[in-house]
Amino acid sequence: MQDNYLHQGLRNKLVEILKNKGIKDPKVLSAIATIPRHLLLESAFVSHAYQDKAFPIAANQTISQPYTVAFQTELLQINPGDKVLEIGTGSGYQAAILHRLGAKVYTIERIKTLYLQAKQNLDKIGIRLKYMSYGDGYQGLPMYAPFDKIIVTAAAPYVPQALIEQLKPGGRLVIPVGKDQQEMKLMLKSEQGDLEESTHGFFRFVPLLKDKT
Ligand code: SAH
Repeated sequence: MQDNYLHQGLRNKLVEILKNKGIKDPKVLSAIATIPRHLLLESAFVSHAYQDKAFPIAANQTISQPYTVAFQTELLQINPGDKVLEIGTGSGYQAAILHRLGAKVYTIERIKTLYLQAKQNLDKIGIRLKYMSYGDGYQGLPMYAPFDKIIVTAAAPYVPQALIEQLKPGGRLVIPVGKDQQEMKLMLKSEQGDLEESTHGFFRFVPLLKDKT
């Protein structure tokens, strides 16, 4: 399957929907306008790819809703060259958006089939991340730390200490915290290492899981 003008048209409509829902950052919107989300889903679901909906991928997981991806990405305020850690690779869509914004992306996925599939997905659309890891996001990636930005794309019961430690002074961590629904938290680490937390509304994510399957 390819990416053609019909898909481009659907993406342009999706961008309009996201603007109407309050996404403002033109760079984030243009990343959404260029990443072929339909190529990251099962081929049977093309017609769903550009609705603003979460969608099932393998292993009972979901590709996040485009609005949620745009919202979290906006909170991160990506600058080209930022070293970014993502927890929960899933389909690879969020990682592709970060890459398109010029970030050096490191990502962790704990389900092997998804880790392998995300590799294939990103190959297919010509995106090469800095590093893809099959492992446990609670631990972060100490070997590659510190990071300018960290994004968690699954529901965390609490903010893992390892992620706070692996954030650079001046860095930003975006993480949905909670059980049935999650409050989006933005944590800023000051140059002195203090944390400042703000909250940004409620969302629903699949849970951040503890052990490898
Ligand atoms: N960012 C993804 C959405 C992922 S859904 C996308 O753009 O498609 C959440 C993902 O987090 C799932 O793939 C799930 O397997 C993964 N996950 C759950 N617990 C994890 C953990 N402890 N470490 C890393 N990944 C985890």
